[in-house]
Amino acid sequence: MGSYADLHPSPEMPIVGMMRLISLQSGSNGNCLYLEGRETSILIDAGISGKQAQLRLGEFGRDIRDASGVILTHDHADHSRSAGIVQRKFGMDIWASPATFETIAPRIGKVETHHAFRTTRSFRIGEFEIEPIATPHDAADGCGFIIASHGKRLGILTDLGTCFDGLGDAIATLDAVVLESNYDPGMLSRGPYPYYLKQRITSPAGHISNAECGELLRDHGRKLQWAALGHLSGQNNTPDLARKTSREIVGDDLPLHVLSRDVAVGEIVIE
Ligand SMILES: [Zn+2]
Ligand SMILES: [Zn+2]
Repeated sequence: MGSYADLHPSPEMPIVGMMRLISLQSGSNGNCLYLEGRETSILIDAGISGKQAQLRLGEFGRDIRDASGVILTHDHADHSRSAGIVQRKFGMDIWASPATFETIAPRIGKVETHHAFRTTRSFRIGEFEIEPIATPHDAADGCGFIIASHGKRLGILTDLGTCFDGLGDAIATLDAVVLESNYDPGMLSRGPYPYYLKQRITSPAGHISNAECGELLRDHGRKLQWAALGHLSGQNNTPDLARKTSREIVGDDLPLHVLSRDVAVGEIVIE
């Protein structure tokens, strides 16, 4: 990582890239991504504490209050547990589908307002045109997002369930992607999880494996500047194994990042 001055050029210098992504945390222990465009910044998911999000963003010289809103992929606690806190503490707008909001409302504390989006329709926050992609994951109304700005398209695609119809076609339109690489099937089958949980993870409503991630990138990632492997399991995967599996499948050309369950990763630039 560079110094503060390296990462934050003075205002006279041109801003690098169209969008910049900082992963504050990614994994089944909590998810929160920060996306900065030319004029707009948002969070995607609020699955870590507000304090942790603020601290980790501070490491990159950013203020969490610069994010105008948080968009929620789904109701699971690893994506939504701090949605109320980021509004009360940092004044952030919450964007969620009606079913997602209804599911989380009893457990996120008092919220003044929220914005509803439909998972079948695009919506806009500042410069970002945001297209939800409905997923078969076992949530109330789960989705991923394609976020477009100044002609560039970033996909946020985790908690996918399975490689569902249309997923590859969506990836083929992207300039960059955060893609789920949740588990290694060997580690999962040998690991300590009870049978029902192993079944849930591999089911079409669970998560996708390292090899499925790599195959999606190989078969559909022709436009990608980079891919960031995300939502890794702590028990059933390692960062090295996730990277190695995708690397063997996609070959040497595509830059691969691996998002961390423990520390912030970034900033990753979309040119
Ligand atoms: Zn999750
Ligand atoms: Zn989930």
